[in-house]
Amino acid sequence: MQFIFLGPPGAGKGTQASILADRWQVPHISTGDILRAAIAGKTSLGIQARTHVEAGELVPDILIMALIRERFEAPDMKQGWILDGFPRTLAQAQALDKLLTRFRQPHPQTIYFEVSTENLANRTLARGRQDDTAATIRRRLAVYQADTTPLIDFYEKRECLINIDGNRSPEAVTQILQASLPVYQSSRLARV
Ligand code: AMP
Repeated sequence: MQFIFLGPPGAGKGTQASILADRWQVPHISTGDILRAAIAGKTSLGIQARTHVEAGELVPDILIMALIRERFEAPDMKQGWILDGFPRTLAQAQALDKLLTRFRQPHPQTIYFEVSTENLANRTLARGRQDDTAATIRRRLAVYQADTTPLIDFYEKRECLINIDGNRSPEAVTQILQASLPVYQSSRLARV
């Protein structure tokens, strides 16, 4: 019942995480959403994160781990969760391992969204978020290549990685996801 949604910016992770979290009634934890809310609310986290987000750079691991740790303390995390956009570095993935042990949480399945570069660029430009300028998009993709792609190997070695063709329409991807996660689906269906 615990998932990491991994993939480049614009892969559709957020869209799918939001649909499935709603369907399965589990929290959808998007570090990007948390950071954007913090920036808008000018909280201490927001003030520290802002320049990094606006430049398309990663926010320092220490800040991200503090917000994740805090989120894991909430009681709603007991039922399962979807992590969207986290972890994004090997250091974050290793820190997450420790956190999961500390909170006696099981290790998640990782869903890797594979999307062509052309689709990524088109989707990111189409969503028109404030940090979606051409230069920032390019930088985010480069940062993804350098810092986040090593996680594919990290989770593949653990045999907990499921590859999803994220080039399909959002509806098709939702269907593929539901079909790829039959255990989870059937265990939750009784409750719906
Ligand atoms: P997202 O909405 O996931 O594309 O995230 C938007 C921006 O928030 C990223 O470009 C980063 O600047 C920052 N961010 C989100 N999640 C993380 C993370 N796990 N580690 C570092 N920075 C992050």
